[in-house]
Amino acid sequence: MDKEISKLNFIINNSKNIVFLGGAGVSTESGIPDFRGKDGLYNQKYDYSPEYMLSIDCFLNDPELFYKFYFDKMIYDDVKPNIIHYKLADLEKRGILSSVITQNIDGLHQMAGSKNVLELHGNVYSFHCMKCNKKYNLQNINRSDIPKCSCGGILKPDIVLYGEMMDENVSRKAIYEVSKADTLIVGGTSLLVNTASSLLNYFNGDNLVIINLDKTPFDFRANIVIHEKLGNVLKKIK
Ligand code: NAD
Ligand code: ZN
Repeated sequence: MDKEISKLNFIINNSKNIVFLGGAGVSTESGIPDFRGKDGLYNQKYDYSPEYMLSIDCFLNDPELFYKFYFDKMIYDDVKPNIIHYKLADLEKRGILSSVITQNIDGLHQMAGSKNVLELHGNVYSFHCMKCNKKYNLQNINRSDIPKCSCGGILKPDIVLYGEMMDENVSRKAIYEVSKADTLIVGGTSLLVNTASSLLNYFNGDNLVIINLDKTPFDFRANIVIHEKLGNVLKKIK
């Protein structure tokens, strides 16, 4: 692995336009479980699949179940960025990383100081009313019940649920960023969600790097593949 890491170190320090594409594995080291990893939510027992409980179908037909799962499992108070988030923010400050594209909805990249963050699936901090479109913040909604607007309408979190389309603007920007990158580092994602993995098709640069604990279906395409904790890898990058 040390050989791979020194190769990665060389690539990072000789790139001008790195893009990082990440997923839930970026935040497990902050204590937020992923979906498909060993301790992920898919390996815990629920009456319904997490995919259903985070779907637009469930939101519209059984908002009580939706919000129970959402408030229990998708919102983590008092979480802090970890070394991965800070290292990426630092590479951006050094002018060699142009953007972080994330499937995460936890806002930790911005908290660590990253500026150019594209959230493919939105984030958990904002909501809007299904009836009148009024905006709400996570802090001012009642989590003990289905959150409602002052007009009586149900609030919907501003995240992309299963069965919904991604925001076109975000999607277009992500494609643009990937297509002009010289190095694409993909980390902490199983690459099983199509919105993220399809971005790999737009990469024309020299170095595709995949860092993930488990194997991914795209490992064969990468110049460097490291199956290790992202934090352990990034802390060795100088
Ligand atoms: P996933 O759960 O499908 O895959 C996560 C991958 O990260 C796994 O393959 C696992 O082996 C790897 N991993 C876990 N910890 C790691 C670490 N420390 N270092 C390196 N690899 C590690 O996640 P996904 O591909 O992002 O797709 C899940 C979907 O669920 C996304 O759409 C995302 O919106 C959502 N989600 C978000 C959060 C969050 O915001 N933190 C958490 C869970 C799920
Ligand atoms: Zn309203």
